[in-house]
Amino acid sequence: MLRPDFDDIYMELAVNLAKRSHCIKRHVGAVLAKDTRIISIGYNGPPAGTHNCDEEWADVGCPRDSKGGCSLALHAEQNAILYAVKNKTSVDGATLYITLSPCLACSRIIYSMGIRKVIYLNSYAEHKGIASDEGVDFLRKFGVEVERFNKLLTNVTHMI
Ligand SMILES: [Zn+2]
Ligand SMILES: [Zn+2]
Repeated sequence: MLRPDFDDIYMELAVNLAKRSHCIKRHVGAVLAKDTRIISIGYNGPPAGTHNCDEEWADVGCPRDSKGGCSLALHAEQNAILYAVKNKTSVDGATLYITLSPCLACSRIIYSMGIRKVIYLNSYAEHKGIASDEGVDFLRKFGVEVERFNKLLTNVTHMI
């Protein structure tokens, strides 16, 4: 029997969490782990108790920001980090598994929170035809280890 390593398990969980997103355009999932234990999870969407984009704006889509993202949503990694902090769990030294390369705003938060390593599945820049992921560049520049997950996940269809 194939024995999956933690990277596979956590990335597969992040992909499954992404499917829970209520946002219409983009589904992103995140897992925060430390010492082989999960400390938090998240997916993109407006703060709990505010909006469900897919129900409120089913035909037109939710209000967009200047970059075309959902203007109401917290990003998956923001939700994961905020949940941990709210519950007084330290994310210092943690590893972030995320289905989409982090944006610059999230990367600033990731760095500030002391997250040590980021493993992402899909590249936003690649998807958009941009030369490089500015969030990834930022993290690498300031010493956060960033890796692209490039193994095949068994039960998972890659999506953005
Ligand atoms: Zn939305
Ligand atoms: Zn972000």
